[in-house]
Amino acid sequence: MAFRIPFNRPYIAGSEFKYMAQVAESRHFSGDGQFTKKCHALLESALGVPKVFLTTSCTHALEMSAILADVQEGDEVILPSFTFVSSVNAFVLRGARPVFVDVRPDTLNLDERLIEAAVTERTKAIVPVHYAGVGCEMDTIMDIANRHDIAVVEDNAHGLFGKYKGKYLGTFGAVATQSFHETKNFTCGEGGALLVNDADMIERAEILREKGTNRSRFFRGMVDKYTWVDVGSSWLPSELLAAFLYAQLEEAADIQARRQRIWTYYRENLGEWANQHGVQMPTVPDYCEQPYHMFYILLPSLEERTALIDHLKSRDILSVFHYLPLHLSDKGMAFGGKPGDCPVTEDVSDRLLRLPFYNDMTENDLEEVVAALQGFEDWRH
Ligand SMILES: *Cc1c(COP(=O)(O)O)cnc(C)c1O
Repeated sequence: MAFRIPFNRPYIAGSEFKYMAQVAESRHFSGDGQFTKKCHALLESALGVPKVFLTTSCTHALEMSAILADVQEGDEVILPSFTFVSSVNAFVLRGARPVFVDVRPDTLNLDERLIEAAVTERTKAIVPVHYAGVGCEMDTIMDIANRHDIAVVEDNAHGLFGKYKGKYLGTFGAVATQSFHETKNFTCGEGGALLVNDADMIERAEILREKGTNRSRFFRGMVDKYTWVDVGSSWLPSELLAAFLYAQLEEAADIQARRQRIWTYYRENLGEWANQHGVQMPTVPDYCEQPYHMFYILLPSLEERTALIDHLKSRDILSVFHYLPLHLSDKGMAFGGKPGDCPVTEDVSDRLLRLPFYNDMTENDLEEVVAALQGFEDWRH
């Protein structure tokens, strides 16, 4: 069902189809051609990352990360329960056991104060998810990881171009992952990237992504035969998708400015309403620069959230909630998860609501959403 004001509307920046036509004319459609290289160079120089690889999704970049972090059967991985399923599945696929740690009630990020108690001899990786693109407490997380010699894999699906204390998100861990799914700030429909900060992992990442072969080294003339050298899969996107994505990344400044305008409008126009009704607004610590991925609010109760979603729907506006606690899912409970394990996650997951947010949202769309929220009367207290 289409809503007059949808939750998300993928954006066309301008040159997407022109670049795709260039790929078509070049008769080179498979991966790692000129547009993939342009995306790599743009991201490497913008973020200051030693090596970037476009991937077919953030999920696949996470799967590569689990292999690069050498996660094996019986290892443990520390991550939030309040996240997308791929953050955990990538590690479970290698035979790891997820250890879910609760999130902070303010930023909804992995609570760094609870991590050390969850570390054991089997802990192989910590996976901070920068929720809404607001940085996790990376000083503390990196300190714990370094002291225990544990790899950090940043799930930065929300956080491209966000910063923590002046440093780009995705540049702290050994590796980090990005998503270019149509719900993210920059998209090619389905796509992602692996950012490799640990120089020792670059060569293996290249091999994994090329089906476990040394094909790339062969093409560079560094080896004289092209052969099977490791495990791997086909994690590189078609050049057609890279061309589409490049057109968006090129317009990063404009896209981010559009999103900043939307986020700021909500923040400025909902503050008083939120105070009046006990609605919690997003927390962005002053040392975090966020990339304006989403605008969420926390309602006082599940009942009020359900009623508000219906109220907005009656005005043809779609709002959505997300992240059912992973530790209480069927699969999470099979790993021993039970109610009460992550009380903050269980609470916020019932109360969080995401408002419509897309690059070409008009002033009028924004006014309508705010007016609809202000017109909600079914408060339960
Ligand atoms: C969107 C998202 C992913 C998965 O991204 P895909 O590109 O769809 O695989 C992973 N983690 C988080 C936190 C996400 O929001």
